[in-house]
Amino acid sequence: MQKHEALIILDLLKTDDSLQESELVPNVEGNTIAISGKVSIEGHKIKILLVLDPDFPRSLPYIFLQNGSEYEDLPHVLKENMVCYQTTEGIILDEKQPAEIIRWAIQKAVIVLADGKKGANWGDYADEFEVYWGYVSSSSIINLVNTTAKSHEVKLFKNGQKSYLAQSVGDVARYLHLDIDKVRQKFPIEERSAIFVLPVGTVIRPPRFDQPFWLVDELKRVIQPALDTLSVKQYKQYIKLNNSMSGTMVFALPRPSGGFSLFGVSYVSPEGNHPFSERGNSAKIQPIKVLREEASYILPRGGSKTAHSSKRVLLVGSGAVGGYVAHELVRAGVMNLTVVDSDKMSLENTFRHVLGNAYQGRPKASSMRDELNRKFPYADIVAIDTSIEQAVNDGLVRFSTFDLVISALGKPTTEIWLNEQAVKYAKVPILFGWVEPLGIGGHALLAQPGIKGCFKCLYSSIDPEDAMANRAAFAGKNQWFGKSLSGCGQLHTPYGSLDASRTANLMTQLALDSLTGKETKGMLLSWKGDSAEFLKQKYVLSERFKTSEEQLYHTRYLFASSACPICGRLPNI
Ligand SMILES: [Zn+2]
Ligand SMILES: [Zn+2]
Repeated sequence: MQKHEALIILDLLKTDDSLQESELVPNVEGNTIAISGKVSIEGHKIKILLVLDPDFPRSLPYIFLQNGSEYEDLPHVLKENMVCYQTTEGIILDEKQPAEIIRWAIQKAVIVLADGKKGANWGDYADEFEVYWGYVSSSSIINLVNTTAKSHEVKLFKNGQKSYLAQSVGDVARYLHLDIDKVRQKFPIEERSAIFVLPVGTVIRPPRFDQPFWLVDELKRVIQPALDTLSVKQYKQYIKLNNSMSGTMVFALPRPSGGFSLFGVSYVSPEGNHPFSERGNSAKIQPIKVLREEASYILPRGGSKTAHSSKRVLLVGSGAVGGYVAHELVRAGVMNLTVVDSDKMSLENTFRHVLGNAYQGRPKASSMRDELNRKFPYADIVAIDTSIEQAVNDGLVRFSTFDLVISALGKPTTEIWLNEQAVKYAKVPILFGWVEPLGIGGHALLAQPGIKGCFKCLYSSIDPEDAMANRAAFAGKNQWFGKSLSGCGQLHTPYGSLDASRTANLMTQLALDSLTGKETKGMLLSWKGDSAEFLKQKYVLSERFKTSEEQLYHTRYLFASSACPICGRLPNI
C-alpha cells in the first residue's frame, strides 16, 4: 500500500469515532503502513497501533497495544502486545472497503479486550497456553505420551540435543522406527519424570515473556490443583523418588475446546531436593516447550470412536493402485499394515507409481515400508517380498489375524483364491480394487464373510460361456489390453496414475468404512471415465458401462450371484 492510499483511508476513518486522534506513524520501513489512534473500551480511551501489511486490504490489520498498557496482561494479547482477534482463514475481505475492514477489526479487538478485563474469556488462556509458554521457553522436549485424565509417572530419554518424554523406551523405538538397542545408544540418558494433570476448568495466567520467569513458589501455587488430586501417599512417594539434582516435570492443562495444553518445567537443585519438597524452594526452574508428537494428538481419528490405529490390515499388491492405497490408509490413521508383493520396482512403473524413480530395482513391498516409515511416525509396516501364496506357505501370513485384507493385485486368478481364503475360511472382510484399460473406469469391491456378494460372484454367471468374464467390467468380453513394454512376458494394462489414484480413493473409503463397522455388507463401487480413447482404439464397451453413475451407485449392493460357489448358498439378508 502506498502512502497516499493510506491517507485516503485515514480520511475515511475520521468520519466516525471508531479510531480517534488517528494519524500516520512516520518512518515505517518497507511498504508497511502504521496508524496510531485511540479506541474506547467501556469508557476508557486506550492507545493502539494498527499495522497494515503490504497486501492490505487483502489481509487483516495487526492491532497492537502500547507497551505498559493496562490491557496487556489479558488473554489473546500476544508477544509485542499484539491482539489476536480473528484468524484470516475462511473470511472474505471486501478490498474495495479498506476503512470498513479496519473498523470491523477494531470492533473485534475491543470486544476481546473488554472481555479480558472482565475476566469473561480467561478460560481461553488454556487454549492458547502453549503459545505463551513458547515465548518464555528456550528449550523443548518431544512428547510421545498420550495424555490421560490422571497424573502419572513417565520417562525422559535424552542425549545432549534431544529429549523424548515417553511411557517406555519401546514407545520411542516405535516413533522413530528404530530398534530398542539403537534408541538406548542414541539416547543414553534415562530420567524419571511425570505428567501432572490439572482439573478441568483450571485457569492459569501464563508467565509474561517480558518478565522474569516464575519462582518455585509461584509454580507450586499455580499447579497446586494438580497436586491436590494426588493422595498424600502418592505425593510423598513421588517426592521421595524424584529428589535429585535436576529433572523435568510436565503439566497438562485441560482446554475448554477439548484436549490439553502441555507445558514443561525443568529444575536444577544443587542439594538434590525436589522443588516441591520441603527444602526445595531454592531450586532453579526453567520453562520448557512441549512439542506434541504423541499419537493421540497427531494421528487422524477418522471420526470413529475406535481409532484405526489398532486395526491390522493386509495389503496384497503394492503396485500403482496398492501404493496409493497404502499411503492413504496410513494417512487415515491405519498404523498396522502388512504389505505383500513379489515384484520389483521397474522403469515402466516410474510415472504411475507413488514411489516414482526412487526405489528402482528394489522389491516393491520393502520399498513401500521404507517410504512409509520415512514419512510417518508410528506407522508399523511389515513388508513381505514374496508372492501371497508363498507368504501363506511360509507361515508369514495368516488371514484370520487381520481385520481386513485388501487386494490390489489386478490378477483375477489369484484374487479368486484370496477371496475364498478370506471370506470362506478365515472369516475376514476382503476388499478388491482394479483399474479398467485406457481410462474408462475402475472398481472397488468389498466382500464380508457370511454375507452374500463376493469377488467370485463377478465370475459366476449362470451362462457357462460367460464364466470367465468379469460381470462388473466396463470393457466388453474377450478383448486383450496388455501392452508389452519389454518384449516377452511383461504385460501392463494401459492406465495412468490418475486412474490408479481414483480407484485407490474408492478402495480406501471402503476400507475405512469396513474397519469402523460403518459398512457391514458387501459392496461394489465403480467410477466411470472418458471412453473416447478406448473407442478410438476400436475396443468395445460392456453393457454395464452404459449404466449411469447414479444407477451404478444405486445398485452397489446388488452384485451377488446365486450361482457363486462361495456365497451362493448363503441366505439373503
Ligand atoms: Zn487468541
Ligand atoms: Zn460370491
